[in-house]
Amino acid sequence: MDTVDKCPICGNENFKALLEGTDYSISKEAFKIVQCSGCGLAITNPRPQEKDLGKYYNSDIYISHHSNKSGLIPWIYRKIRDIQFVNKTAIVLKHFNRNVSILDIGCGTGNFLEYCKNLGWTTTGVEPDGDARKQALQKNISVFDLDYLNNSHEAFDVISMWHVLEHVNNLNEKLEQLYRLLNTNGIVIIAVPNHKSFDALHYETHWAAYDVPRHLTHFTSDTIERLFNKHSFVLNSIHPMKYDSVYVSIKSEEYKNKKSIFNIIKGVYVGIKSNCLAKKSNDYSSLIYVFQKKST
Ligand SMILES: [Zn+2]
Repeated sequence: MDTVDKCPICGNENFKALLEGTDYSISKEAFKIVQCSGCGLAITNPRPQEKDLGKYYNSDIYISHHSNKSGLIPWIYRKIRDIQFVNKTAIVLKHFNRNVSILDIGCGTGNFLEYCKNLGWTTTGVEPDGDARKQALQKNISVFDLDYLNNSHEAFDVISMWHVLEHVNNLNEKLEQLYRLLNTNGIVIIAVPNHKSFDALHYETHWAAYDVPRHLTHFTSDTIERLFNKHSFVLNSIHPMKYDSVYVSIKSEEYKNKKSIFNIIKGVYVGIKSNCLAKKSNDYSSLIYVFQKKST
């Protein structure tokens, strides 16, 4: 296990306990989440060493994603995914009224980039999982492994990370890469869970979006803005991901109680309640942040 002694944002060395999470989906092991006394950033600490993280990922879950299966649940999954593609690209279209170049970090099997490509955009993906990369290549997407982020001399109009930054081990290094790979007037789009949401506070240790130890950092709108400000980005806008609260609440019910129709309905109820409350607080279960480079 690796212990982080200094907060990656503010350098403070004092952490207080936030809660203990459990890896419900794979190892069933418990992991502590602590919070920096200086800036409030929450991190999984201690955490598995980088070389051991792979065994906490079940690549089946990350790859199949109901893409080709028949039945009602896969059909709903695909419908929601398609709506999300429209919502995600709408954020880009607010900033650019032309075709853009987009780099999607953690692109998986490339479904989102395939959608972007069909809009006429220039698409590049980065994906650490070799099997997922192979499937993306079959869609004629240019996709590379993580080395690309260090070695590429290209720059992009848009860099997206959909539920990826919370998995990243070295945040400061990643933010430097983002800065270098982004055009002067470009945007970075980051989607991450928000542990200040109602569903997070309701499910507490059973909240599925803590997802330890795969999630190494647990953001709020305050801490992610601090991190990006530190690296000369400014926040442009925040957008809700309204389906995530329902999905995460159903999963959390499963972890807290067990899988049953009754608990699925309860999860849907908590998810919808979370969205209603977030209309005022803006603390949705997951949020999309748009950052730009600070003008110099
Ligand atoms: Zn801190």
